[in-house]
Amino acid sequence: MELSKRQETILEIVKKEGPITGEQIAERLRLTRATLRPDMAILTMSGMLEARPRVGYFYSGKKPGQELAEKLHQITINDIKSVPVVVSEQCTVYDAVVTMFIEDVGTMFVVREGGLLEGVISRKDLLKTTLGGQDIHKLPVGVIMTRMPNVVYVESDASVLEAARKLITHEVDALPVVRQVKGKDDHKDLEVVGRFSKTNVTRLFVELGEGAY
Ligand code: ADP
Repeated sequence: MELSKRQETILEIVKKEGPITGEQIAERLRLTRATLRPDMAILTMSGMLEARPRVGYFYSGKKPGQELAEKLHQITINDIKSVPVVVSEQCTVYDAVVTMFIEDVGTMFVVREGGLLEGVISRKDLLKTTLGGQDIHKLPVGVIMTRMPNVVYVESDASVLEAARKLITHEVDALPVVRQVKGKDDHKDLEVVGRFSKTNVTRLFVELGEGAY
């Protein structure tokens, strides 16, 4: 991030004299507080300066961008996940296509009783099948889905950064958000509790840009 000459000067003043009020910074620069407001906003939003009510500004010691990186580590999947759209393994390809349109999602999760994860079905899986000439009114999604243990998933307490990295590494659009539950014979099952997709990442990106997070 490029700082203007004036912003550099403000940083120097706060480094030396902080905590210092906006009023005092304005006096040092012989400017009005209103003139300085956009600069102060940039310096606090980037995390370089911190503002405490009734105390003033002080230097955080953080590099530009560090604040954002910290947020991406701190925000968890639980904070931003969506509701999952699920179908059963016996659901036909035709019904899955209809559900995809009605629910307006690109990826659906295939579950068995108890919402336990069995597989994932994406737009392209369905498209490929419709090109294949099979009877989509009869063919169950269980035959064409990506099946466990090949499903990439994430747990609620994972950071958004970790989950977004999985989307990129595995070249997929969405991950089921799961909770580990004990199944038969101590076998670990995964209960689907949410959906994390590229849309969640884009929405968060916008919110971060607008300073809403
Ligand atoms: P699209 O098919 O709409 O481009 P994806 O890129 O997500 O969507 O899917 C590509 C392939 O990866 C599909 O065969 C799909 O079944 C599979 N897939 C999708 N999500 C996952 C996931 N979380 N884990 C494993 N495989 C997945």
